[in-house]
Amino acid sequence: MKTLKILLVDDDDAIRNMYVEIFQKEGFIVLEAHNGVEGLDSATKNMPDIIFTGIVMPVMDGFAMIEALKKNVATSKTPVVISSHLGREEDQRRATELGTKGFFVRGLYTPNEIVEKIQEIFKASEYKIKFMPNELDAEKLSQDMGNSKDFKCLKCGGNLILVMKVVDMSNREFSTKIICSGCEPEQN
Ligand SMILES: [Zn+2]
Repeated sequence: MKTLKILLVDDDDAIRNMYVEIFQKEGFIVLEAHNGVEGLDSATKNMPDIIFTGIVMPVMDGFAMIEALKKNVATSKTPVVISSHLGREEDQRRATELGTKGFFVRGLYTPNEIVEKIQEIFKASEYKIKFMPNELDAEKLSQDMGNSKDFKCLKCGGNLILVMKVVDMSNREFSTKIICSGCEPEQN
């Protein structure tokens, strides 16, 4: 799996620092913001793979930030996960309405469990599909992509695999790339 970039938005330095450390240890690239305005700014500039945000913050709270993210084409599909210290039902309902990918009430999960669940979001949303060379336009696609017609990598002879990553599950929208199972599987 590629290195994931996470944006942590929280005004509580102790909480944020703790998560910075945990996510870095897990191999994430970690970006930080202290409130919704900073979060929004960083999200549009740095295009994180996921945003992990608190709700109650000065300047702009988590929900206002998520609403603004949704309105921006560049960030509208970025998955958002909420970290709440209150766990109010109305907040959970609003989070669901806004299409957030997770709502974690502090104290119910250990930070390590939260990190694990965030990693699962990415594992679950990626599919690796093997080509059938003789099916439909598979042969043409492979040749147009500069590979052999039977979906073998020209560099190493390994099998090529179509990787589909969910962009928006509700619209069945995916981003796709073709990777070689043999060489440099992490690259585009
Ligand atoms: Zn190869």
